[in-house]
Amino acid sequence: LSMGQFSSQNIENILAFSQRLKPYSGRGSKLSILEGITLKPLFFEPSTRTIDRHVSAMNTMGGDYNPPFDEKTSSMEKGEPEKDTIITAAQTADILVIRHPRPYAVHKFAELIDNLKNNSAFIINCGDGPNEHPTQALLDYYTVMEELGNLDNLIWLIVGDLQYGRPVHSHMYGIPKFSNNKIIGFPVGGLGLPEEYKPNSYEEFDFDQLSKVASEIDPKSKVVLYTTRIQFEREARKRDPDYDNYDELRKKQIRDEIYREFRYQIPLGLLNALPKRTKLLHPLPRGSEISDEIFLSNNNPKVAMIEQMRYGLQVTMGYFALFSGLEEMLHEPEKYLTRRPLALQRI
Ligand code: ASP
Repeated sequence: LSMGQFSSQNIENILAFSQRLKPYSGRGSKLSILEGITLKPLFFEPSTRTIDRHVSAMNTMGGDYNPPFDEKTSSMEKGEPEKDTIITAAQTADILVIRHPRPYAVHKFAELIDNLKNNSAFIINCGDGPNEHPTQALLDYYTVMEELGNLDNLIWLIVGDLQYGRPVHSHMYGIPKFSNNKIIGFPVGGLGLPEEYKPNSYEEFDFDQLSKVASEIDPKSKVVLYTTRIQFEREARKRDPDYDNYDELRKKQIRDEIYREFRYQIPLGLLNALPKRTKLLHPLPRGSEISDEIFLSNNNPKVAMIEQMRYGLQVTMGYFALFSGLEEMLHEPEKYLTRRPLALQRI
């Protein structure tokens, strides 16, 4: 539910097992580790990557999934309460992955099903409003471990919308669990980190100070430049609680207005000036902050956003098995391989 629930050892354990699953996460690969286990995606907010990696991890691990919840075609359209929807999902699925616009809503759902008679399902928080997104933080740590070698002695420069960006909030609980990390926030347009998430020795500067602070970093340092988009939908709801009821055209006008106000971009020059061992990450989707030139640059060793996206699959496979109590099977995944990755070639 929260990054605060993990110890550094828990995190390292998840990452180590995820790494063991790497050879089995290729296209077409199938294991039988989660055979008999069913997933239910319940996304009450949009998702592209998070939903895909959970379904895909289930497939690859040999489990099943029920169709993703869709508000329009579910009985919520007939007025069924959210609670009943969650209880229903827990009757036929073992793992519920939930994303919801209200902070802590997912915690409440977890409490609800934990208190049900004969319940064996559990919930994974895939984003609860502007609060947290702990599984994104896990895949970010995996990316850092693969790309920079470890999770200690790092400088994290966290840029963009720190007020509503939920992966950032999970990181504020996660990064300090490792040794000797420095976290410096660079909010855009005053969207600073709320007090409740601030770890000890956190520093914050306005975004326009980023180049200056970056130029003072020891070139031998390892740096994670963690960028985030402006969460226009949350800012819009704050400005006008009726935002969600407007038609698409009006929503677009409000969104464009907020984008104009908070627009920012990471200049290529800044990335070039950062130490050699810098990795640029982003939880995605990107807005104006990452240009195509950076995002699609195949040969810039500092850019790791597409790798980050790809690593998500094996991390999800890893925590599915661990949270299901199947650690034993992860010692020798080869034993459970039912289909080897396909060697597809373009013709
Ligand atoms: N995909 C991430 C999330 O759901 C980041 C974002 O939307 O900006 O929190």
